[in-house]
Amino acid sequence: MTGDTPEIAAEALKTGRLVMLPTETVYGLAADASNPQAVARIFEAKGRPRFNPLIAHVANGLDAESIAVFDERARALAEAFWPGPLTIVAPVRDRERVCDLARAGLDSVAVRVPGHPRARAVIAAFGGAVVAPSANRSGRPSPTTFDDAMEETGQFVGAAVDGGPCAVGVESTVVSVLDGVVALLRPGSVTREEIEAVVGPLAESGQGHRSPGRLALHYAPDAPVRIEAETANEGEVLLGFGPGVGEARWSLSPNGDLREAAANLFRLLREADRTRPVGIAVSPIPHKGLGEAINDRLRRAAGFVG
Ligand code: AMP
Ligand code: MG
Repeated sequence: MTGDTPEIAAEALKTGRLVMLPTETVYGLAADASNPQAVARIFEAKGRPRFNPLIAHVANGLDAESIAVFDERARALAEAFWPGPLTIVAPVRDRERVCDLARAGLDSVAVRVPGHPRARAVIAAFGGAVVAPSANRSGRPSPTTFDDAMEETGQFVGAAVDGGPCAVGVESTVVSVLDGVVALLRPGSVTREEIEAVVGPLAESGQGHRSPGRLALHYAPDAPVRIEAETANEGEVLLGFGPGVGEARWSLSPNGDLREAAANLFRLLREADRTRPVGIAVSPIPHKGLGEAINDRLRRAAGFVG
C-alpha cells in the first residue's frame, strides 16, 4: 500500500471526502469539521453513535482559540503540550468551523494541535479544522499502523496518508477547562502528573464535567480480554509486561517500559486476535504515569466500566 500526499489529502477534504490521517497517537479518519455531510460520513463509516463528539484538529494555538474560548489555564496547557497528544475541551466560540454534528450539539468543543508532521502538513494544506476520531470501526481497538487503519475503514476514504507506525499508540489525553475547573475526561499519553505540574490538582470527570461517548466496552478485539493475569490459561495468548513474562513476541515491553507498552498495545491486541485465541490475557501494568491510560484502555477492552 502506498499513501497519498498531504496535498491530495487536503483536496479530498475540501470536496467533503474522508481522509486516512496519521497522527502521533493513532490513525484518524478525518473530515472537514465545518461540513456536516462530511462529518456524517465519519459516523456512518465508524458506526459511531451520534452522541459521541469528535475532536477538532487545528494547525496552532491561535487557530484553536478562534474556535474555542480559552481561559488562562487552557492557554497554559496549550503552551505546555502543543503540538502533542493533549485535547482541550472548552466553550465553543465558532459554531460553524466545528459544526453541531461534530460537537454532538454541545456548547463545548474539543480541540488539539497534533504533533505528527504529516498530520500537520495535511491540516496546513487544507487550511481549516479537521475532525479525526480513531479510524477503527466503533468499539474496536484503534489502528496504530497504516495497514491496520486501511483494513478498518480504508474503503470509506478518498485519500490516505501513510505516516508510518504511530509513536505514542494510545489516544490523546482529554481535559476539560470549563467554568474555571480543569477535569481529566480521558487518561492518555500526557500523564496526570504532567498536567498537574502545569495547572494544579485535577478534578475527576465525575465531578461536574461529563464526557459523552466514554463507553464501557470499547477498544475491544473479538476475543475476550482478561486483565491483571499472572499466567495464560489453556488457549489464551498472554500479552506480557516486564522481563521473563510470556513469549517475547507477545511482550508489550520486555523491559517494563510504559512508553513502549503504549506504542505496542493496540497492534499486539490486533495481532493476538488474528490468531483466533480462546482469549487474550494481559499481565498487570503499573498504574502510574502512562500506565493509567494503558489500564483505562485495557479495562474497557475487557468490558469493565471505567
Ligand atoms: P475520540 O473518540 O478519540 O475521537 O475522542 C473523542 C472523545 O473526546 C469523546 O469520546 C469524548 O469523550 C471527548 N469529547 C469530545 N468533545 C467533547 C466535548 N465537547 N465535551 C466532552 N468530551 C468531549
Ligand atoms: Mg476512538
